[in-house]
Amino acid sequence: MMKQFVVIGIGRFGGALAKRLYDIGHEVLAVDIDEELIQRISDKVTHAIAADATDENVLRSLGVRNFDVGVVAIGDDIQSSIITTLMLKEMGLKYIVAKAQNEVHAKVLKKLGADRVVFPERDMGIRVAHNLIATNILDIIELSPDYSLLEFEVFPSWIGENLKDLNLRAKYGINVLAIKNNNDNGSINVSPKAQETIKAGDILVVVGSNEDLLKLEKKID
Ligand code: ADP
Repeated sequence: MMKQFVVIGIGRFGGALAKRLYDIGHEVLAVDIDEELIQRISDKVTHAIAADATDENVLRSLGVRNFDVGVVAIGDDIQSSIITTLMLKEMGLKYIVAKAQNEVHAKVLKKLGADRVVFPERDMGIRVAHNLIATNILDIIELSPDYSLLEFEVFPSWIGENLKDLNLRAKYGINVLAIKNNNDNGSINVSPKAQETIKAGDILVVVGSNEDLLKLEKKID
């Protein structure tokens, strides 16, 4: 189950990602051009190397092509991000995740063959926006361009009703995946039954189309 990750660019995003992967028990090689950053992360990942990732010889000598996943987390320097992604692809790395700065950057990374392009700043901006619109929206995670997972605290009017009566699938087109309750020792009920009664402080984890979720959010607002 253990995988080998090479994380290139140990800024805030790459650094947090590399450390977490290592904590979970994976092998992590961290690469950054900044020696000080490499020194700071050296005891928190498997290997940490100070090098310029746009130098093909560097990538070859590190044997990055044998890693399971390559993460290009170089942010501001779009040229370095593009060159590094291109070289990882040419070397035949199996799976490449690249961080994009904007839509055009994302398009280029996809054209070069990045398997997954992430926008950490944009995504966090969207998540915080939903939480600001309505304080009972706790989180939203995009599953695809059209579908998302939403976590929200139930309306007071729902308390005492069961899922069958609420009929959320018909009314809002959403599916309830789980019911959490922080008052109740952080309990979580996965795949709740139709007879499940909503309690005060219940948090529903639902999945639905962005359009349907927006309708629900407007009601919450
Ligand atoms: P964040 O917003 O996640 O902090 P940054 O753009 O600030 O992202 O960080 C990207 C990291 O990538 C920096 O630590 C920088 O030193 C590193 N970096 C930039 N260019 C290269 C390169 N050619 N080779 C290796 N690391 C690089």
